[in-house]
Amino acid sequence: MRAPLKPLDDALAELLARAVPVLGVETVDSFDADGRVLRESATSPLQVPPADNSSMDGYAVRVADLAEGGPAIAAELPVSQRIPAGSPAQPLAAGTAARIFTGAPVPAGADAIVMQEDCEPLEGGERVRINAIPAPGQWIRRAGEDITLGAQVLSAGTRLGPASLGLAASIGLARLTVSRRPRVALFSTGDELVMPGDVPPERMPPGAIYNSNRFFLRAMLRRLGCEVTDLGIVPDRRDATVEALRSASAAHDLILTSGGVSVGEEDHIKPAVETLGELHLWQIAMKPGKPFAYGRIGDAHFMGLPGNPVSSFVTFSLLVRPFLLALQGAADVAPRAMAVTAGFDWPRADRRREFLRVRWGADGRLERFGNQSSGVLTSAAWGDGVVDNPAGQTIARGDTVRFISFADLLS
Ligand code: AMP
Ligand code: MG
Repeated sequence: MRAPLKPLDDALAELLARAVPVLGVETVDSFDADGRVLRESATSPLQVPPADNSSMDGYAVRVADLAEGGPAIAAELPVSQRIPAGSPAQPLAAGTAARIFTGAPVPAGADAIVMQEDCEPLEGGERVRINAIPAPGQWIRRAGEDITLGAQVLSAGTRLGPASLGLAASIGLARLTVSRRPRVALFSTGDELVMPGDVPPERMPPGAIYNSNRFFLRAMLRRLGCEVTDLGIVPDRRDATVEALRSASAAHDLILTSGGVSVGEEDHIKPAVETLGELHLWQIAMKPGKPFAYGRIGDAHFMGLPGNPVSSFVTFSLLVRPFLLALQGAADVAPRAMAVTAGFDWPRADRRREFLRVRWGADGRLERFGNQSSGVLTSAAWGDGVVDNPAGQTIARGDTVRFISFADLLS
């Protein structure tokens, strides 16, 4: 009897448990920290904004000076100072207005800004007519309204993105302590594989195909902050496979392979890993992606992805990606699924949990790519994501399904 396939959630939990120890740290320039995982929480040594400031170009006033004449009547005030952004403000003399610009500090005593569209400068700007009575506090951004003094702004385990890099800069950080880059050795197996660029389409030998996995795997690894050693294509021979794995295991955190991990005579990955180390996981109850393997060779982790391009793409997204994020100490590694309405039928239930390539339709429902074969990479390029469909489940148009976006999976 065949051993039951490992449920995907169990496999993922096992991988995450094995993603230890977390990689060491390095301090990098914030400009180079996009996509890296922060390892030290950041606490603010100041408040942001540092002082009350204007959110409009206009005039700073004391509301009481305007209200005296009654709200319906426009007031005329002398302009006592001009405060551009970046300049200090003097206290606002009673009965006067200050010309003020966006981002400039609000003078002491002023309690509202009137936007310039509601004002008329008079006498070449010496005086101003205020045509709208402001509510107290109007158009004033309060000191500390974004960040209070001592607030934790970013927590360890955050994957840094453009907004968090900007936020770190707003509290004065120019360098950040992040996980060092995972070192990943990548190779493809398959005697049928040739490299685009090496062989033109009109000279493809019979039975040959281009190595597509190498391109998307390398791109996905880069996006996850990895330093990639690309070992190219390894022939379908036991000795060559063992040798490639052995040499890669010395200086890498992860060895990632594609192809050769099934049960055919030309599939040498599994026995080669078992010769050099241990195999902990093999064959997952998912479609596509069943022949995924995980093991250890010396100090290196090993992950074998199936050769079929979509299987490789999906197992990378759902297993390798969370593992690499966990290895970098990321707090949040699992992709988010959202409940969406299916605009398609999927009448054939499968015994395995399926990941169907879909995209958004104009009606906000999901459309399914016609050919869901694991060899059809067009489905992944066409799609906006996958529907995570439980084992044994059919889908009818109008059903609520779980959608996982490629925007999440490939970030
Ligand atoms: P395998 O997992 O080695 O049995 O390969 C399964 C299928 O995926 C076969 O049709 C292979 O030709 C194809 N395949 C394997 N590796 C690649 C690759 N790097 N690029 C594109 N197709 C591949
Ligand atoms: Mg093969």
